[in-house]
Parts: sequence; C-alpha cells; structure tokens
Amino acid sequence: MSFPLDCLFCQIVAGETDTEVIAQNASAIAFRDINPQAPVHVLVVPREHYADVAALAQADPAALADLIALAQEVALELGDGDYRLIFNSGPTAGQSVYHCHGHIIAGKTLGWTPA
Ligand code: AMP
Repeated sequence: MSFPLDCLFCQIVAGETDTEVIAQNASAIAFRDINPQAPVHVLVVPREHYADVAALAQADPAALADLIALAQEVALELGDGDYRLIFNSGPTAGQSVYHCHGHIIAGKTLGWTPA
C-alpha cells in the first residue's frame, strides 16, 4: 500500500528507521516513545495509515480492536497489566504525528491531570 512519504510512523512500520519494534500483531506495532513521560511509555500504531483514531475506527474497526489488544499485551509484558491508553486527536489536544497512535502509559501510580 502507498503511504505519505513524510509520515514518520509509516516509515517505522515499514522498517525504514532503527526504531525497535517491541511487540506486533497483524494490524499494529508497538515501540517505545522517544520522549517517555512514565516508566512505561509505548506507542501502539496501526500498520495502515490513518490520521487519527476516529479515522481508524470508521475505516477498520477490527484493526482498532487489534491495536487495543496489542496495548493490553504490552502493558502485561512491561508492567502489572494496568495502563492508560491515550489518543490525542488534533493539535489543540496535543497531536503532533498525524498517523493514528495510542500512548500506553504505565509503570507507576498515575495521577489525573489530563487538562
Ligand atoms: P502525539 O503528540 O500524541 O502526536 O504523540 C507523538 C509522540 O511520538 C510523542 O510522544 C513523541 O515523543 C513520539 N515520537 C516522535 N518521534 C518518535 C520516534 N522517532 N520514535 C518514537 N517516538 C517518537
């Protein structure tokens, strides 16, 4: 499938960077965030390019289910299985990479200051 040449996460999915993929399934891959905000901060990314989670959900709900299953698997492997899964959508919400991704945040007792 073709993808935007300037999409960093498409390049990671394609294996064109030195990013270590730590888990994967048929629809998604997981790799550590380059700027971690918690002891466990991993991104789960669909293999196909969608700008955000709503676009993924609309186009391929099964792939979104696979993405969430992968997030749970990573949280169980790297921590106690508890995790927060965050999808920033749009610049005002903090989205900076326009290839759908969920942030798995775990590894400590989390506060709640989302805004
Ligand atoms: P967001 O701001 O929600 O779009 O999240 C994008 C995330 O991608 C940020 O947390 C960045 O730290 C992370 N990021 C950017 N470039 C890379 C990279 N090359 N490898 C891993 N994570 C990255």
